[in-house]
Amino acid sequence: MLPSSINGDGSASNRQHYSCLLVDGRVTIDAGSLAGSINEEERFAIRDIVLTHAHLDHIAGLPLFIDDLFSVLTEPIRVHARREVIDILEEHIFNWQVYPRFSELTNQHGKVIEYVVIEPERELSIGNLSFRALTVNHKVPSLGFVVSDSNSTFAITGDTAEMDGFWKTVNALEKLDCLFVECAFPDDFEELAAISHHLTPNGLAKELMKFRHSDCPIQVVNIKPSYRDAVVRQLSDLNIAKLEVFEIGMDYEI
Ligand SMILES: [Zn+2]
Repeated sequence: MLPSSINGDGSASNRQHYSCLLVDGRVTIDAGSLAGSINEEERFAIRDIVLTHAHLDHIAGLPLFIDDLFSVLTEPIRVHARREVIDILEEHIFNWQVYPRFSELTNQHGKVIEYVVIEPERELSIGNLSFRALTVNHKVPSLGFVVSDSNSTFAITGDTAEMDGFWKTVNALEKLDCLFVECAFPDDFEELAAISHHLTPNGLAKELMKFRHSDCPIQVVNIKPSYRDAVVRQLSDLNIAKLEVFEIGMDYEI
């Protein structure tokens, strides 16, 4: 998870505003902290960005990332997203008012952005990774993913409230090596979580009753930074086996 804030000593802070999970050093899931939090090697390796949805904390770094690379790209940045998400980006972000419409521009090598439509419940391949897109339950059209290479598989919910289809698909997998799951708000913000279609620790505990891979590590992500301490405390009180809160900036190997 690429950091969005730093501590006083310059290290990655757990006060994470954005979502951007870097997979195998070259594909990102979401683009919140993209551009601001990558090193030179990653800047030249990342060419595929898979979006869960169009909320700002998941796309904020995308315009700056493309802008930064504009003159040196020898292939377009491929943005994989639902049709609805692509339409939102074109209408509200890359609209010449908030930022240039990169889809109308080229550099000396050609296109700088290419949209790849993801159909929910379908599979797509990016390099050696396969992504299966799963519908989740958020305020706007959103996806979670099951991501596999030849060795390992993880699932990620993206932002979501309670759901069933995601768990059904994930439970049917023969093997799952890690589950990344959201938990945005503490229990005392249950109403806000319900309105905005997010989970609280209590809500997450109910969801995990539907999760059948009992020995699979669970990493909690997408906690609102201002409520992080409360969420971490409440999650720990639940005593759920194998559940940890993801450390921002940490390399996680599966
Ligand atoms: Zn969201």
